[in-house]
Amino acid sequence: MSSEADAASPSKPSETYHGSCHCGRFSYAVTYSPPLSDPDASVVECNCSICARNGYLLIYVDVSHINYEKGVFDELKKYTFANHEIAHYFCPTCGTSCFAKATATEGPYANMQAVNVRTFQGLELKSLNLKEVDGKSR
Ligand SMILES: [Zn+2]
Repeated sequence: MSSEADAASPSKPSETYHGSCHCGRFSYAVTYSPPLSDPDASVVECNCSICARNGYLLIYVDVSHINYEKGVFDELKKYTFANHEIAHYFCPTCGTSCFAKATATEGPYANMQAVNVRTFQGLELKSLNLKEVDGKSR
């Protein structure tokens, strides 16, 4: 059995969420496993300087699980600071903070992208299993 077949195992439920920036220049479908309503799913709420300001509620997904329906990733505006290891992506028109991603093109996080679930349509934020991360003290 190939590892590819394992990755596509039907025993792992997933759900596809539709998100967009405020003005609609960017919209995207994000497939995440397990579904955010699952008790095993957690959404990161961090208190660091950038997360606090952007109001991020983040999940981490493989970039292949994000499909752009409108706009392309490279058209988002990018912001980095301090050690510049993480880039923060926002819509240049409306300023919505949609994603964060490691700037390194190799390594364990190269293909991972953080998605702000606040941009998802119809997601009940109060139902989320929030995982508090103390990024401020790091
Ligand atoms: Zn926008």
